[in-house]
Amino acid sequence: MMADVFFMDLEATSRENLPDKLARLVKTAGIESILKENELTAVKLHFGEQGNTAYIRPVFIRKIIRTLREYKVRPFLTDANTLYAGARSNSISHIQTAIENGFSYSSMDAAPIIITDGLRGKNETAIEVNQKNCKQVYIGSEVVEADALVSVAHFKGHEISGFGGTLKNLGMGCASKRGKLDQHSNVSPKIKRRTCIGCSECASHCPADAIFLKEKKAYIRPKVCIGCAECIARCPTGSVTINWNQTVPVFLEKMMEYTLGVLKNKKDKAFFINFITDISPNCDCLPYSTSPIVGNVGVLASMDPVAVDQASVDLVNQQAALPGTVLKTNLNPGEDKFKGLYPSVDWEHQFSYAETIGLGTRDYNLIRMKTLAYKS
Ligand code: SF4
Ligand code: SF4
Repeated sequence: MMADVFFMDLEATSRENLPDKLARLVKTAGIESILKENELTAVKLHFGEQGNTAYIRPVFIRKIIRTLREYKVRPFLTDANTLYAGARSNSISHIQTAIENGFSYSSMDAAPIIITDGLRGKNETAIEVNQKNCKQVYIGSEVVEADALVSVAHFKGHEISGFGGTLKNLGMGCASKRGKLDQHSNVSPKIKRRTCIGCSECASHCPADAIFLKEKKAYIRPKVCIGCAECIARCPTGSVTINWNQTVPVFLEKMMEYTLGVLKNKKDKAFFINFITDISPNCDCLPYSTSPIVGNVGVLASMDPVAVDQASVDLVNQQAALPGTVLKTNLNPGEDKFKGLYPSVDWEHQFSYAETIGLGTRDYNLIRMKTLAYKS
């Protein structure tokens, strides 16, 4: 069965500005059906890394919050801490970064930020999915606890998955540190001895006592490591790294299995929005964003997480590439921009696998919202 995906372009008039058009989009797409008075409703987004400017503008997120309030739910903003040491690797700096990027309590219409996996990324819930790669997945507990979930994803390129949208916002974005590590690698982290300064921060915080120091350099005992990622967050020199040699298809499959885990207790209680704007070639986790590969396209909303991402890919690929960006091939309308960016990534695999495990459908019916006429 085809899924309905509702689309608004970025044309606005004196009768309706873009935030108002966004509110009309989500209402038309049926957001009301997942909402119930007084329910705790998670709005999952990416607050942007420090120095990144491609993330979704706060004015749109505020509009979503205000729209949710019309239905008398209790919304909160959420994301999970990062695996890597950076400005969002614990709740304190994560919330500070969000505020610096414009997502303060006052600007978000008094919707609080609650980081889903807690102070240091350990507040997780194991959810059974019993799939090919993962029997259980580790999801930030506050998203699991929430009554309803509104995913608001910035659609853009991504260096490992080809693109990032709703499926990544959920599968990777709601995973605890252990969950992220689980998706990223089958093996324990490794130490870059060249940059290790022997400070012992990793060893003293390793809960499994898996790290030892020899001649002022750290070593990990892989058989003892439990993959908690604490050492990655603690290392002041970025010397703890993950084995990225896992094949991309397995990575993508795991990400879909995690998405399945996030949505397991959200049947008919989840709604998906993709902002196809500032379509940067890289993830918003980078501390910078470079020129968008195509012009702004619009916003999509759907009850189907697969369909909304498939429609986003198609809409981007229908565009002509902008000149002078990092995208050097597949520049014409109809050519695959994500293959042009990352030739070794088979991004299609995540869709076919997502369909196989029942996450949604790639077949969609695109419903374009009309732009209201100017006031006469
Ligand atoms: S991932 Fe966790 S258990 Fe493994 S070495 Fe690092 S801190 Fe220790
Ligand atoms: S925390 Fe980093 S720099 Fe310090 S000993 Fe561990 S790996 Fe080396």
